[in-house]
Amino acid sequence: MMQAVVKESAGVDFVLKQVPIPTPKADEVLIRVEAVGLCGTDLPIFKGVRPVAYPLIPGHEFAGTVVGAGNHVADFKEGDRVVPGLVVHCGRCDYCRRGLESLCDGIYEIGIHTDGAFAQYVVAPEKTLHRLPNGLTFEQGASIDPIASAYRPVKKAAVGSGDTVVIFGPGPIGLYALQIVLAEGAQQVAVVGTGDDAQRLALARRLGADLTVDASVESPAEAIGAWTGGRMADVVIEATGVAEVPGFCLGCLKKAGRLSLAGIFHRNSSINLGDVVRREIAITGSICYTWLDFQACLDLVTRGRVRVEPLISHRMPLDQMAAALEIAERRESVKIIFFPWPGAVQ
Ligand SMILES: [Zn+2]
Ligand SMILES: [Zn+2]
Repeated sequence: MMQAVVKESAGVDFVLKQVPIPTPKADEVLIRVEAVGLCGTDLPIFKGVRPVAYPLIPGHEFAGTVVGAGNHVADFKEGDRVVPGLVVHCGRCDYCRRGLESLCDGIYEIGIHTDGAFAQYVVAPEKTLHRLPNGLTFEQGASIDPIASAYRPVKKAAVGSGDTVVIFGPGPIGLYALQIVLAEGAQQVAVVGTGDDAQRLALARRLGADLTVDASVESPAEAIGAWTGGRMADVVIEATGVAEVPGFCLGCLKKAGRLSLAGIFHRNSSINLGDVVRREIAITGSICYTWLDFQACLDLVTRGRVRVEPLISHRMPLDQMAAALEIAERRESVKIIFFPWPGAVQ
C-alpha cells in the first residue's frame, strides 16, 4: 500500500489515504515519486471545477526513481532516475506523425486522465520518460513540465536577438518564459502583473526582467510605450489565461508583432480583430509540449540557463496538501513542491 491524495468526487474535497501500489502494464514503469509540484491546472481539479474521471490521484509535475518495469520496457531499469512528460500520445495519428504530440487524437495525460503523482508511487509509459541528468535534483526534474509548457509558446513566437518581449502574468509559466526568452537572446523583457503580484514582479526583476509593470496602477500599453520610445513590443506572451488580458496584450504590440497565448482560458475572450488584421498581428496558441520540447528544457536547466530554485516558494510533505491548496489559493506561493516520502523535505 502507499499514501496518496485521492480526488473521489466532484465536490471540493479530497482524501489522504492508503491505496494499493499500482502495477505497471507491459509498456510502463513503476516510479517511486521523489518530488512532485502543485500546478495551476491542479487547482480547478481539486475544486471540482474541472471534471475528471473519479476517483483520480492528480499530480503531473514529478520526478522519481524506476522501481519496476513491464515486460516490454527496453531502455529503463530499476534505479534509473527519470522524469516523465505528462503527454501520452498514440504515435500513430496524423498529428503524432507530424510531431504535434500534444494535439494527438488519442492523447491522455498522467495526473489528469490517469492516476498521477500525488502519491508515493505512479506508473508511466516508457515512451514518456526522460533520463534525469546526474547533476539535476528531483525538484529540478519535477519542474521541467512547467518549463516545457513555457518553452513551447516562446518557440511559437520565434523570439530572437533584438526582440523586445512583454510577458503578461508572473506565475511559474511567465517566470520560466522570462528565463527562456532571455536564453533565446531577447534584447529586453518586461513582465506585467497586478497588485497581488508585487513579490512575483520583484522575483521577475531578480531573474533578469528589465522592466516590471503593475497593471493595477498603470496602463501596460503606456508603460511599454514609454519604455520603448513608442516602438512597442515585437512579441507578447500571454500567461494569465484571464479573458480580459489579450486586449491589453494587443495594445503593447508593434505592427507585425507576435502574440503567443500560453494561458488556459476558461471564458471567451473578446479582442479587436480589425486591429489584428490592419496591423498584421500573428496570434498563436500552445498546449503542453512535445517530447523534444521537454528534452530541450532538461538541457536548459542542466546548462543553468533556466533556474528552478528561485521559483520554489514552499517544500512540503504530501499530507500538507490542504494547507498547500489554501496557500496557492491566496496566491502566496509561486511553486509548491511536495516530497511524498518521510524525511525527504529538504
Ligand atoms: Zn503543470
Ligand atoms: Zn496520436
